[in-house]
Amino acid sequence: MSDLMKKEGFSYAFDPSKCESCGGRCCTGESGYIYLSQDEILNIASLLQLEPRSFVEKYLFKKGYKYSIKEVVYENSHDCIFYDRTINGCSIYEARPTQCRTFPFWDYFQQRVDELKQECPGILDD
Ligand code: SF4
Ligand code: SF4
Repeated sequence: MSDLMKKEGFSYAFDPSKCESCGGRCCTGESGYIYLSQDEILNIASLLQLEPRSFVEKYLFKKGYKYSIKEVVYENSHDCIFYDRTINGCSIYEARPTQCRTFPFWDYFQQRVDELKQECPGILDD
């Protein structure tokens, strides 16, 4: 096992090699929100070579005062619209939002490790 990731304040480690065989459970499954900052909106729009306004209309929806990424339903799963099942990966990986980059080290999971383990096979006790 190599390249385990750890973060101070978290009681678990993360093995990113598990992503290859996981099938993107953190990008699919239950419906959820992926929030984007203005800079992230501009970055992804640029990657997709879209005007920011067109990008927002096509791929985002308003949740309160923020924008979140749309989902598509595949069988019983709510997939992030950028999840590509043909490659089992993120189609905007280089520009994916901070919320995706920082998974699985979210404050929410600090006290909910069992819940996280059910979602992500890469979680190990530190
Ligand atoms: S759920 Fe965990 S192992 Fe699966 S793709 Fe996401 S981070 Fe990787
Ligand atoms: S933007 Fe990419 S990494 Fe984030 S949830 Fe969607 S498919 Fe997953």
